[in-house]
Amino acid sequence: MAKRAESIAFIDDQFVPISEAKISILEPTFTKSDVVYDTLSSWKGYMFRLDEHLERFQNSYRAMQLKPPYPLEEIRRIVAECIERSGFEDTCVTLMATRGPFIDLADRDIRKCKNGLIAVCVPYYWVLGEAKQTSGVNMVITKNQRVPAGAIDARVKNFNWMDLTRGLLEAYEKGGDSALLCTPDGLLSEGPGFNIWLAKDGKLFTPRGNLLEGVTRRSVFELAQEMGAEPTEKPLRPDDLRGADEAFTSTTAGGITPVTQVDGKTLGNGAPGILTMRLNDEYWRRRKDGWHGTRVEEVLRDRDVA
Ligand code: PLP
Repeated sequence: MAKRAESIAFIDDQFVPISEAKISILEPTFTKSDVVYDTLSSWKGYMFRLDEHLERFQNSYRAMQLKPPYPLEEIRRIVAECIERSGFEDTCVTLMATRGPFIDLADRDIRKCKNGLIAVCVPYYWVLGEAKQTSGVNMVITKNQRVPAGAIDARVKNFNWMDLTRGLLEAYEKGGDSALLCTPDGLLSEGPGFNIWLAKDGKLFTPRGNLLEGVTRRSVFELAQEMGAEPTEKPLRPDDLRGADEAFTSTTAGGITPVTQVDGKTLGNGAPGILTMRLNDEYWRRRKDGWHGTRVEEVLRDRDVA
């Protein structure tokens, strides 16, 4: 009988079914969200922009003075092995560099914690829901602001999500599908799990500032450049989005998702935009063909030879 596909975690030096992956409730990883992470995806067996995700992950853990117990090359293999063991082709893999447990509970110096590495591989998911890929989302620009960079640097991918979660709850209360937060000076930033883009007169714009520089965002830059849409990063205001011809989100877990309403009001003609759908089609067509992809077996072959 064929092996059943299942979600897999790597924790405490072992690959285990996800239900067996546990951390202590006393760890600052949990009590203080003292952990950084990165999420990458595989599609048809190709890990997308693997080394770029690993580089961002490394920048994040270095920024928090975390030292995972494996070199980056080994983390690369752990990612591939999680996917292989899961039996899924289309996955999201989250890597976490944790502060880990205190060695001595009486000594709360976080520099002495035993840093850890956790990897989690689950079937590919769409953070805004798969159906919204075609219908589009109602995006609420929230009152709740994105935390300033001087407090939390959003480029360091973190689980300090109180601003994003409060934004999301506010958006749900207002009948929206998700939230777009602004910086304290009123500029558009990002939402819970995605970057934002808008199109005006055939040109594409995305905010600049305290936001995670998404790997999918980078991919949209490449595709849009080829399509002549002159993608530009610049400070944007809520009214730029409200007056846009079209808009979409970009993220690892969901690719490109059209925004068809802002604060419950129709955006453009109310349908997913033409440029948005061209980008979406091209993104998935290329993903299927292994664009910026590394085969899982290729990384594991290196492991077997080493
Ligand atoms: N912004 C935030 C806050 C995110 O959490 C994410 C992804 O999880 C993104 C943007 C999109 O980044 P990427 O395209 O690298 O997935």
